[in-house]
Formats: sequence, structure tokens, C-alpha cells
Amino acid sequence: MIPRCLCARGLRASAALLLALTIAASTVHAGALPPPPKDAAQIRLALEKLRVTGTALYVAAHPDDENTAMLVWLSNGRKVRTAYLAMTRGDGGQNLIGSDVGDRLGVIRTQELLAARRVDGAEQYFTRALDFGFSKNPEETMAIWGRDSVLSDVVRVIRMLRPDVIVTRFAPDSTAGHGHHTASAMLAEEAFSAAADPARFPDQIRAGLKPWQAKRLAWNAYRFGNAGPDNTPDRVHVDLGAYDPLLGRSYTEMAGESRSMHKTQGFGAAERRGTFDNSYQVKFGAPAKTDLFEGVDLTWKRFPGGAKVDGLLERALKQYDPAKPQAIVPLLLDAYAAMQAIPDQPVVREREQETLRLVEACGGLWIEAIATRPLVSPGSTVKVVTSVLDRGGVGVSVDQVAIQPGGAGWTKGSIALSPNAPWSDTVSVTVAPDAPLGGPYWLAQPPVGGLATVSDPALRGLPEAPPPTVARFSLKIAGRAVTLERPLVYRWVDPVEGERYRAMEVAPPVRLRFDRDFRLTHAPVADSKSGAREVWPLGVSVSPADVRVTGTLSVSAPSGWTINPAFVTLTMQPGAADTTVPFTVTPPASAPSSATMLRASFKPDQGAVGRTYDTRVVELDYAHIPMQVMEPPAQVRVVVTDAKCTARNVGYIMGSGDTGPDALRELGASVTLLDDGDVESSDLLRYDAIVVGVRAYNTRPRLRALQPRLLDYVKGGGRLVVQYQTADNGLNNRIGPFPLTISRDRVTVEEAEMRTPSAAHPLLNKPNRIGAEDWQGWVQERGLYYANPFDAKYDVVVSANDPNEPPRNGGLLYTHYGKGTFIYTGLAFFRQLPAGVPGAWRLFANLVSPER
Ligand SMILES: [Zn+2]
Repeated sequence: MIPRCLCARGLRASAALLLALTIAASTVHAGALPPPPKDAAQIRLALEKLRVTGTALYVAAHPDDENTAMLVWLSNGRKVRTAYLAMTRGDGGQNLIGSDVGDRLGVIRTQELLAARRVDGAEQYFTRALDFGFSKNPEETMAIWGRDSVLSDVVRVIRMLRPDVIVTRFAPDSTAGHGHHTASAMLAEEAFSAAADPARFPDQIRAGLKPWQAKRLAWNAYRFGNAGPDNTPDRVHVDLGAYDPLLGRSYTEMAGESRSMHKTQGFGAAERRGTFDNSYQVKFGAPAKTDLFEGVDLTWKRFPGGAKVDGLLERALKQYDPAKPQAIVPLLLDAYAAMQAIPDQPVVREREQETLRLVEACGGLWIEAIATRPLVSPGSTVKVVTSVLDRGGVGVSVDQVAIQPGGAGWTKGSIALSPNAPWSDTVSVTVAPDAPLGGPYWLAQPPVGGLATVSDPALRGLPEAPPPTVARFSLKIAGRAVTLERPLVYRWVDPVEGERYRAMEVAPPVRLRFDRDFRLTHAPVADSKSGAREVWPLGVSVSPADVRVTGTLSVSAPSGWTINPAFVTLTMQPGAADTTVPFTVTPPASAPSSATMLRASFKPDQGAVGRTYDTRVVELDYAHIPMQVMEPPAQVRVVVTDAKCTARNVGYIMGSGDTGPDALRELGASVTLLDDGDVESSDLLRYDAIVVGVRAYNTRPRLRALQPRLLDYVKGGGRLVVQYQTADNGLNNRIGPFPLTISRDRVTVEEAEMRTPSAAHPLLNKPNRIGAEDWQGWVQERGLYYANPFDAKYDVVVSANDPNEPPRNGGLLYTHYGKGTFIYTGLAFFRQLPAGVPGAWRLFANLVSPER
């Protein structure tokens, strides 16, 4: 087995408040969410933490590689500023809880890491590297990513944070198990000295970053199996399982909660209790005997002017009374002012922000800027309600509120607030006509090779872009002038989840969407006798937004394709219903099997500074993360293939989500989504085939009990096609009519040779003859969760393997049972169908097509 991630290998990787500070760190930026409330123990912990000025950087490759327990211990135990740098956003992984994969998954997993960091107290950073799937070795990884580019990002993060200690998850060798893992360690080791060299990446120095030499780099050692205590000499040991009486939890318990945020990966984790020894081998820099921070001054005294800060913080800690936290607010604000007198220290800038958060927590302040809608168009106007509430009675007056950029706001003079009586003001904010559209910054332009395109260097390394619009509150708190910022957000009450927040984002004034994500067209499409071509309708759905827009809508296609009409003139009124504009598409007279893209765009006549809008708006709504908005191009993927499908009625048992039903409809089948009740009591034999979607048995517990019904369907002449399910002992020998266990076998090399033990097998011939060309152009991987072992009564239809691995034969199994047919497939149709891989469409059609 080649593990994708360390965690997949079963090695206990464990793991770490979101700060997401910009380099300038001038603003508090925690995405759309309000600052989490701090109870008395958390205030105490934060006060203790303020007195520590160390920084640690943990480095690995993917979301979920990080040792969460280490991050919790660093952040809460050692109380240093702690960050996790992941090379990638995990966009190449699977999604246990939805159908979003690829770029969308990278967006979700970024937020899962930020959610984990809110639990463990660390910060999150990334390089531009893409998670392109399994990599055999670091040389391949570096070649695809571009070694120098990713190294420059690692160096940048080191120069931004200036860590005292760098810790790598992986060793820079094959024990890391994945080229991305090995590369992450190699890059961290090289960056350790490169960050200190002003001649390396001098553009960063010119932009204001300073060279930085960390004290040491240590490897967070791992050993496989039950190796017992690590007695390797010269390693520093840390008990990550230590108990924190202030929090009432062990660091490993918090780690379990943090790690369980990787919900798309199904990484719900136990909250481990008891000693948990981890060992660390110093590989570069100053040696250490017993402490990773040996020789590092972790106090304020390391900075000129720091003694004053420390004196104030020491007094604040001594005088802190959980029953009267407001009393230390003046001391905190004095400490904040003293910190501002210490220039050019990233950890001091971060501690300043923490101090302001503590001022809010101790004072019981509530400050917000709530927009009346979540999506705003360039040129539109939105009302924003700004509020300040002094719940603790610390003494607050509001001097000014200004929305930035633009400066709209409240400037009528200083208002002194009464305790627990809200002050609010409503401001009209006009969005600049040339305001950039929202969406994740790293997806704004197409990637080049294995690297996201991020043209603004100031964004590189950051988990998210800073909020485009903020409200700046100029206040007096306990008599001292302070400016606090809030991003503009939208708040609503979800009937299930309760109060929710999302960022206010700039979206196009016209949002475009095709009436389908992909379209099948047959090739060759020319009718040689009549010369007629297949002409088909295609609708573009247009959603008006919040401003009146007049312009022209058109669909672009590659040469040879004809779109009618060439354009349509539209006037959209704000808030009007969606309109679907019909076009017809005539493909070229002949076209090879391929996937091609048609794109929609809207050009406003005037008043929009020459912009063209060509995106749709996609909202990713998962309960464990703030709602994410993406603005990908409005396009439809056209799959040109001669795929035939003889199934007319197909039942589909949806699992965690895949695009199988849409593909089957394109292939001409009528698809019925079956719920558990349908499976239990409806007449299944009316379906030519029933397809079990990805992970249905994992996500629909009742389905296991209904398996006899499905096998009876096969026995009676049905055709059951089961797509990959996650390995689960409870499924062993229960899915097929004959014994079959789902393993972790996978074939991750998408070009792996596909051997067909019997070329005459019906699955490879009816109705589509599958040849070598059908295995070309597959994306990311061949398949996963293959059957192994399985009964000899199953036909092995294809065999393949990754380099240096034995043949994997359980990727496509076929057997007769009674009058019917059972098929299990681990082949990654969930990736290939939406990617428009013609061969995968043809094979998928064979799986469901009756052979009679
Ligand atoms: Zn990994």
C-alpha cells in the first residue's frame, strides 16, 4: 500500500486559534467569524501566553499531516506563537461528506485547517503548491511544483514569522511514504539556511522582509509499529499528553477535537488521555539536550523596551480577578502601547493583536459590522449596521466609525456608552465599480504546472486574503484611545445550526450558469448521407444581482463549433427572477473523442468600467466551516464520444455524493434516486441497473441491512454496480453475492498500464468496445479501495498497479448471480466523469448496460 498521507498509514499523527495575520499585522483578521468568546480560564491562559515571545513553525505537506498534539502543546503548553505550514491545501484528496472535489475541496480543507487551528491555538500558512495526487518521489514532486517557487514560499513564511524553532513532520527520505511528504522535509531543511541568506530571494528583502536564522530545526521522529519507547540517543523528549489544569483537558484531548475538524477526510479522532511521549531529533542549528527551546530567550527581555511590557503584563496577571476582569484593561492597554514602541518584530505584532483581543474579552466588549446582504456587486450600495456594546461596564466611548476603503461612516463626535446598552449606526456603503470580485485568492487565475498563480507576493503564504472591506472603530476604552477593526460580515439564523456568519463578498452583477455541468455529444456527429449534424439546445441561466444591468450575453466555443444566436441583449433588474436564455450548439462535422469547454460571458453596455463578467457563483455550505463563495468560470464541459448506453431505467443509491446520475442522464438513461424506503419496498426489477454511489454503505447505515434486497434483485435478473466504498470491517463479505473484502489497495498513478486478462470480457465489449485509448487522459488516479481478497467466482476485468507494487486486481470485478450480474468497481469514476474523460464515460456506460 502506498499511503497518501502518514495518517492513512495508521501512524498516529496527532496535532493546534486562527490569527491569519497579514505581514503588516495591522488588523485582526479571523475570517467571517467573530472573535471567539474567552471564559475566565482562557483569559488566564492568554495572559500567561502574552508573556512568552517565542515562535515555533511546524512543516508538513497536506492538511491532516500535522501532529495536532504537538501544535496544542506548543501553543497552550509552551505558550509560544505556533504555526503550521502545509505545502498544499489538500485539493487532491477525497471528500467523505459531499461531492466537492478538486479546487473546491482545497477551499473546504483550508477552512477545516482554520477550524482546527481555532481549537488548538496555532496559525495556518500554505505555499502555492498544488496537491496533484500521489507522487512516487520528491524529485517528481519538485519538478511538478517547481522547487525554487515552493522553496521561496517556505522561506517567505520563515521570514514573516521568524520562528525560533522549526519542526518537520517527515524525514527527507522514503520513510515519509509520499513524494509530497519527503519534499516538505527537504524544503524546510533547505529553507532553514536560505531564509538567513539575504542573497536568496532578495525580492522578499526588498519588499521589507528580513533574513532570519532560526535557532534549530528538529524532526518530529516517528517509528513504525509498536516499537516501544524511543531510546535513540540525543533526542529531545516531550510528553504531549500532559494535562492542563487550567483548561481541564490534556493536550492530546484537545488534539482529538482539533483533528476531528478534518471532516471531509473522515478523520474523527479519539481524545487520547495519558502520557504521550514524542521525540525530536535536532538536525540543523544549535543542539539541544532536554528542551526544544534551549538557549532561546522566550521572555520580553529579548527585545529593547521589552522589560516595560513584561512589567505591565506581570501586574495584569497578578491583578487578574475572574470576577472582575475589567480591572486589568488599563494595564493591558498600557502594555499594548509599550509593545507598539518595539519596531520590526513579528511576534510583537502578533502579541499586540492578542492584547487587543484580551482587552475585548476582559472588558466584555461586543463590536460588529453587519451587512444586510452577503453578496454585493461592483457599483451597488449596501447598508451596514455598526454596533458597539460595553457588556462589562469598562467604560467605552465611540469617537468615529469608518468603513475602509471609502471612509463612509459615523463622525458626529464622541458618544459615551452606558454599560450593556448597545450603540449602533447604519451606514450606506457603495462598492467601487472596479472592486475586485471575491473568491479564494489562489484560484483567481489558472495554475501553472503544479503551482497556484498568486501575482501579489503579499498574499503568498496566507490561508485567505484579508477582508476586502472593514469597519474601523475609533474608541476610548477606560480612557485610552484604541482603534479596532471588524470585517464586514452577514449574519443569519439557520433553523438547525442557529446563528451563522459569512463574509460579505463582492460578486458579479450578473451570475451565469449553464443548465448542466457537462453535455455528451456523439462523435462523429456528421450524418454522411444527409450532411445533417447533431444540433442541441443549451440554456444559460442568468441570475440578476443587486444593480440594474444592460448588456449582451454570448457563448464562446472552440473553432468549428457553431453557437446560435451569436449574442442576446438583456436588461436585468435587481432582484428579478432567474432567466434561462436558450442557445443551440452545432458541433463540428467531425471531432475526435475529447472533452471541450463552452463558456458564457456577459458584457455590460456601460457604467461597468469595461468589465466583462463570465463567472458563476458557487456557495460551499458545510456546517463545520464558514460558508465559502467561489466564482469559477461559467462553463459547460462537452464530452465528445461515441459512448452507447442500452440501459433505459437506472436506480441510483447516492452515497457521499458523485456525478454518476448526471452522467447517466447524458448517456440517455432515466435515473431514479432511491432512498432507503425505495430499496426496502419498491419493485427494483423495473430498473435495468442499480448503481450504488461512492461511499453509500459508509454514509447510509440502513443500507447494510437492506443488502439482501439488493442481492435478491440481482438474483432475479438485475444488475447491481457498486462503486468504491471505504474499507470497513463491518462490510467484509457483505456487499457481494460471494465473499469480497474492501481493502486500502489503490492505483494512484493515473497512467498506470491497464491489463485486461480477458479482452473478450463482456464488460469490455458491450455495448462499447474498450481499447487502449480509453485508458488515456485519466486524471489523478486509476482507482482506490479495491477489493482484496475476493472470491474466485468474480472475474478480474482489469489489473494494474503502481510502480514497485504487486498487481492490484480488485478494481473491477464481475460475476453472475442467479439471473443477474454483480459488479464492484474501485475505478475513480467520480473523478473521471466530471473531468470528461471519454474512455471513462464509455466504460461507465458498459457497467450499467444490460447484456441481453
Ligand atoms: Zn499527507
